[in-house]
Amino acid sequence: MSLIHKTAAELGSMIAAGEVSSAEVAEAHLDRMAEVEPKIRAFLHVDREVTLEQARVVDARLRAGEKLGPLAGVPIAHKDIFSTRDMPTTAASKILEGWRPPYDATVTARLREAGLVILGKTNLDEFAMGSSTENSAFHPTHNPWDLTKVPGGSSGGSSAAVAAYEAPLSTGTDTGGSIRQPAAVTGIVGMKPTYGGSSRYGVIAFASSLDTPGPFARNVLDAALLHEVFSGHDPMDSTSIDAPVPSVVEAAKHPDIAGMRIGVVKEFGGEGYQAGVLARYNEAVQLLESLGAKVVEVSCPSFTVALPAYYLIAPSECSSNLARFDAMRYGLRVGDDGTRSAEEVMALTRAAGFGPEVKRRIMLGTYALSSGYYDAYYGQAQKVRTVISREFEAAYQQVDVLVSPTTPTTAFPIGERTDDPMAMYLADLCTIPTNLAGNAAMSVPCGLADEDGLPVGLQIMAPVLADDRCYRVGAAVEKALESRWGGPLLKEAPSL
Ligand code: GLN
Repeated sequence: MSLIHKTAAELGSMIAAGEVSSAEVAEAHLDRMAEVEPKIRAFLHVDREVTLEQARVVDARLRAGEKLGPLAGVPIAHKDIFSTRDMPTTAASKILEGWRPPYDATVTARLREAGLVILGKTNLDEFAMGSSTENSAFHPTHNPWDLTKVPGGSSGGSSAAVAAYEAPLSTGTDTGGSIRQPAAVTGIVGMKPTYGGSSRYGVIAFASSLDTPGPFARNVLDAALLHEVFSGHDPMDSTSIDAPVPSVVEAAKHPDIAGMRIGVVKEFGGEGYQAGVLARYNEAVQLLESLGAKVVEVSCPSFTVALPAYYLIAPSECSSNLARFDAMRYGLRVGDDGTRSAEEVMALTRAAGFGPEVKRRIMLGTYALSSGYYDAYYGQAQKVRTVISREFEAAYQQVDVLVSPTTPTTAFPIGERTDDPMAMYLADLCTIPTNLAGNAAMSVPCGLADEDGLPVGLQIMAPVLADDRCYRVGAAVEKALESRWGGPLLKEAPSL
């Protein structure tokens, strides 16, 4: 079997055993990228030489006897929202085009310490605002299952790269669903860790009380291995949790869910959900029951107002965070010809440098925070946020995890929702409550919808710092479905 078909865990052990070099593994993936990138367009920046040099350094470290952990030498695609000192970092925005950060994000630094090899920076919706990667200022990314469909978003470059076998692993950030939703619609595993469980330092900020880095992989164990590599306390992030990382690799290796209590969220389903999504989801719930879990229905009535609360809180934080793009400190500067004031240059630069969705969010957020409206909008949304957290807490008194479909529909056609922001926002209906509460949640593939043959994701939600439960249940579902299907959902690299 070719190198690109191996799991990250397998590649790591082959490299550790000296059966193959990290440089050879990187080369195999760079070749696959060269072959399929013209169709997928998952990457914004690729530099073959920079990648191969990283791999050669890891090979030398291993030869020198350094102990580097299970993913040493394994290649990874890195979302272009994480600062990287050796590659540009743009957040898919014209306002940062060509910017090279002077430092690495903590996640980037931890990938390097563990010997992972960065294949390039992946495409996203500008500043991670979107659900389809069509809001990238550079180009859309295509879903490997059907090139006319979106790969989800905002981390759609990362999901597409893994689903197209360009990389065994990738990174994402999840503010309202941007890891779980793209994972679901490309048939891979995506995990949003507990908020504060992974560091935001060096991640270009969207909504700081929600932004959470997390892993993508084609199987649950690989996702767990990557989760452990970059998670854990970081003094550089003021909201980082100072507690041990939940033992997610242990959990992924022990998919025993007998006796576990699983809650089905009553509010997720019904109108607006695709029949094929609900069919696969209901089968997944039956499967959990057949594996010995105790399934009960749980009601969380405020989840139905999570979306409007999110679309006040996230834009409010973004309007404040994006104020730093002032034409003085980073990237683009427009109209600075000696005749204009700083304010004029700032206004011209922001008008030229931000795309329409980013501007919409800044305006929404500025309005929601303005005096006279603050209590009615932002203040009210924060109260809803508290109620949602309490409903989760009450639910977790009764059950160990909650489940739902990850998304109401499978991957939608490129162009279908670009003129209808509400339709786009609805893609995150089921993922947003978890972000508002700061809890953990995973999406794991649970089959293909009958109508279109496209992947469906099962969302598994768990309390703060109980990330390991997502991995345990995710691995149980994966194991059972693989024995039914005779292999993983994505058996081999799609021919494109
Ligand atoms: N789609 C949501 C939004 O546009 C979530 C994005 C994210 O998680 N980064 O805000």
